[in-house]
Amino acid sequence: MTSSGPALRGGKAASAIKHVYSLLSEAFGPQGWWPVTPAGKNSSVYRPGFHGPLSDAAIFEICAGAILTQNTSWKNVQKAMEALAAAGMLSQGNIAACPLPRLAGLVRPSGYYRRKADKLRAFSRRALKEHPEGLKSWFGAAGADELRRELLSYSGVGPETADCMALYGGGKLSFVIDAYTRRIGSRLGLAGPDGLSYDSWKGLFERSLPPDVKMYNEYHALLVKLGKDFCRPRAPFCRACPLAAVCKREKHGN
Ligand code: SF4
Repeated sequence: MTSSGPALRGGKAASAIKHVYSLLSEAFGPQGWWPVTPAGKNSSVYRPGFHGPLSDAAIFEICAGAILTQNTSWKNVQKAMEALAAAGMLSQGNIAACPLPRLAGLVRPSGYYRRKADKLRAFSRRALKEHPEGLKSWFGAAGADELRRELLSYSGVGPETADCMALYGGGKLSFVIDAYTRRIGSRLGLAGPDGLSYDSWKGLFERSLPPDVKMYNEYHALLVKLGKDFCRPRAPFCRACPLAAVCKREKHGN
């Protein structure tokens, strides 16, 4: 859904984006993204207030989750990640060496499992070959734009996946745009009736916010929470929404 009125522009849009962050932070608190599986466990945990440093294994898990979450809910991804962890397969080396039918069986709960197994193994293999120094060193040494460009050259890695990897795995200033962000942003009046491209949404948030990786990290997680719990596609729960006072849709019923 897009707003039916003109989009907020320039300084007004930037102020609105900053204000929305304050309202969501106050309402929901730190989100602790990206969830990672502690050593010896099979389930991932959120760590509110933790912002690294991350191990190679944690960065790989974030990259794997970013691939598996394409076109499915996080609940399904969790099941797939738990199956990988329980089988001792949640590592770059093991996935790179795993026969495709076995890998597809393990990631089956995430949907499109044959394609996702293929993408996951291809990512693991190419990254191992081209970056034997490991993901932590690779991501750590690359600039945000350079890392994003390189990730986008991997098969099956689109803008949203690359931004998740760069922001949550690499700690880079690379704002993530997803369906929640587009829906909420449109209802807030940040886009006109025709909506915005991925890059335009990304540019709008990045121009509006200070260069703060923790803020980028929390902001995306907060938008996901709002989109899941309040700003649903149909029948949004506006009365209890922390953004009701500033939301164009709530005010005008768009
Ligand atoms: S007030 Fe309603 S439409 Fe606006 S952001 Fe909240 S839930 Fe979404």
